[in-house]
Amino acid sequence: MREIILVKYGEMALKGLNRSTFEDALLRNIRYRLKALGKFSYAKAQSTIYITPETDTDEVCAELIDKAMPRLKKVFGIAALCRARECEKDFAKIAEQAVAYLHETLTAAKTFKVEAKRSDKAFPMKSPEICRELGGILLEANPHLTVNVTEPEITVTVEIRDTHAYIHAAREKGAGGLPVGTAGNAMLLLSGGIDSPVAAYMMAKRGLRITACHFASPPYTSERARMKVETLCEKLTPWCGSMAFYCVPFTEIQEELQRNCPEEFFTILMRRLMMEIACKLAERDQCGAIITGESLGQVASQTLPALACTDAVATMPVLRPLIGMDKVEIVEISRKIDTFETSIQPYEDCCTVFTPRHPKLRPHLPEIEEAQAAVDFAPMIEKAVANAEKKIFAQHISEANM
Ligand code: ATP
Ligand code: MG
Repeated sequence: MREIILVKYGEMALKGLNRSTFEDALLRNIRYRLKALGKFSYAKAQSTIYITPETDTDEVCAELIDKAMPRLKKVFGIAALCRARECEKDFAKIAEQAVAYLHETLTAAKTFKVEAKRSDKAFPMKSPEICRELGGILLEANPHLTVNVTEPEITVTVEIRDTHAYIHAAREKGAGGLPVGTAGNAMLLLSGGIDSPVAAYMMAKRGLRITACHFASPPYTSERARMKVETLCEKLTPWCGSMAFYCVPFTEIQEELQRNCPEEFFTILMRRLMMEIACKLAERDQCGAIITGESLGQVASQTLPALACTDAVATMPVLRPLIGMDKVEIVEISRKIDTFETSIQPYEDCCTVFTPRHPKLRPHLPEIEEAQAAVDFAPMIEKAVANAEKKIFAQHISEANM
């Protein structure tokens, strides 16, 4: 019988959400995620998705599962995953399969216990009996083991389901969260730094599909700076799924700013103009929110008065998932999601190129609005939106190229 993957999404995640929407989205995301690897078939029952590699040989099957597991660990909405042996619902066969399938795992362990889950109540043995009998058989086959019901090294689980029984011994933690797409769409302001990719990860975890926009000011910012941001998009796709990306030309706006507005307001004005453009792109793409990587007090533009000035031009909620986090905590996540090494490459950002020497820490909205009124930015904003270059990062393609 075959080895398969059991994906558990748990009842908790379903509370308050439409169950079938959640399941359909998760299944769709999983399929897309594994598409480049080979053929798998999918079934769902009782808060579990059953993923079966379509192959006749055990070797290819194990290989496909080896490759699928790390990918699945990055799919939001999955609480836990296990590799399992599928077998006939006949106790003698279950026992025989369990001894063979778990041989290596149990050889390496000292203590174990057996757990049984019987959703098919027509199965002739009850759960405690399955545990007892199978425990005895596994002990006989592995005399070095002892049973420990409170803190076993290995928990052998037997699930008796509708059509088959499943045996597994290693439950691995999934990425948690909600399937990407179930919470709607949001527009991420993606710089080349450490923070904004982490913000994308955190909001994708809550079910948002992410579209990113990046403001580039050539020739002040280089092609390599833009490439770096595109690499960040690629690195995010395993978590966020396929992503649309806009590169917005920002040079004209920044030059006008520099020519006509007080230097101490540059950063905050730049932020507001980015926000206006991002909101326009977001409205066009049916996004319901903006996401930024801002964290309170981190830099001059991230004080409360500065954030208030930025929010004043936003036409939708601005989500700042890092607002209460320290840099070390953010760095930890960026390492985990593998964006850190890319983020620290030293290419200039449009913000750093135009950084004022003494940025205003507590800007007042009226003075900021007055400074901005010195230039008619509306046509430039329209132009930037119209000329934003769109690119799609398809997750399975990016993945295949890595
Ligand atoms: P990050 O590490 O994400 O670059 P940061 O600490 O450098 O953040 P800022 O440069 O002040 O902080 O940027 C704050 C937020 O503004 C970023 O997290 C990002 O969401 C947005 N942002 C900054 N620069 C750009 C840009 N060139 N294009 C798009 N968004 C940007
Ligand atoms: Mg930055």
